[in-house]
Amino acid sequence: MEQTYFRKGFGLKGEIQGALSDDYHSSVVDAVRARGYALTAGDLTVRLAQEFGFCYGVDRAVEYAYEARAKFPGKRIFLVGEIIHNPHVNAKLSGMGIEIIARSAAGAFDFGAVTAADVVILPAFGVTREDFERLRTLGSVLVDTTCGSVLNVWKRVESYARDGFTAIIHGKYQHEETRATASQVSEHAGGRYLVVRDMDEARLVCEFIERGEGGDGLKARFCAAASDGFEPARDLVRVGIANQTTMLSTESLAIAAELRRAMTARFGPAALAEHFRSFDTICSATQDRQDAVLRLLQDSVDVVVVVGGYNSSNTNHLAALCAERVPTYHIQDAACIAPESGAIRHKPVGAHAEVEVRDWLPPGRRVVGITAGASTPNNKVGETVERIFATRGVDLSETLA
Ligand code: SF4
Repeated sequence: MEQTYFRKGFGLKGEIQGALSDDYHSSVVDAVRARGYALTAGDLTVRLAQEFGFCYGVDRAVEYAYEARAKFPGKRIFLVGEIIHNPHVNAKLSGMGIEIIARSAAGAFDFGAVTAADVVILPAFGVTREDFERLRTLGSVLVDTTCGSVLNVWKRVESYARDGFTAIIHGKYQHEETRATASQVSEHAGGRYLVVRDMDEARLVCEFIERGEGGDGLKARFCAAASDGFEPARDLVRVGIANQTTMLSTESLAIAAELRRAMTARFGPAALAEHFRSFDTICSATQDRQDAVLRLLQDSVDVVVVVGGYNSSNTNHLAALCAERVPTYHIQDAACIAPESGAIRHKPVGAHAEVEVRDWLPPGRRVVGITAGASTPNNKVGETVERIFATRGVDLSETLA
């Protein structure tokens, strides 16, 4: 029988390496790294975090997508949503003729155009069990780029459901990865989940666990973020913790600790294992980028520029970490920096829209820190470095020549 499901690539790396390098490589980033992750010209220094940009999961997903294009040159290729949350990368794939299947207003993907003759790429965050089954039924070739770290979370959540534990997932319930993760409970009859976005929501759950009051309020609050028929009195007796891989790790750990405390208060320490399970499912790439930006902030930086998609969860968390300590500008792209006018367009932490700020880089000795989310390619970081120096009238091509 012809193989229609692929999740290990096609062995075409040699064929696509040139295109990947043309589309995402940056000689500026290479040069800054070679100089110890810092570059000074005049009284301006730019420091790069030691870990930033494409993670192993994104590298792999983008590579598979390019390989799929090379492997099936004559076929229509679809992509379920965005491969990763970076507009530049998604635009490159569109330019290669890969058609993005958008979500409808109701939140479901419309696979109406897909036939058995087509190829469908599944993104790095994975798809829900329901969407996977629908695509298998259509009979198209599936190229599955779901990251191994996401698969590990799925296994954990599936085991909670198998053992009668409700999966409490720290994440954003509308995020593709969290939807896919939550859907894993459906592998077992009666599997349940509840998604909590932050510590405030986790505390509401803990209050119910400890006091057993306010169940109706909890149901109303989490109606979109819990499995169908969620009943706090029944579903918060045995809980297992997991998280979207790109959340702020300190918050995920604190939420797990708070739920452990609440379950201990309710059932007592001796019975805790029967009622509570926990496993830190932040991926190592996310953790490394968060740790690296904290180290960067110790280096007396005056301001930080964070580069990455505005809908990228891990990029938003990097920006939030920085904004607690120094002025921070989360930009989607280097084009957000206008050297001629000295302005920068950015999305403030917690906001949904961009704002423009003038004179963001005042004269005098300044150190600008730079980091980038796991879905940001190096060329976008390199262009950002160039534009920051250009804001001070420095042409980096001359400096690095
Ligand atoms: S951020 Fe982590 S889980 Fe997500 S794609 Fe990258 S390595 Fe995989």
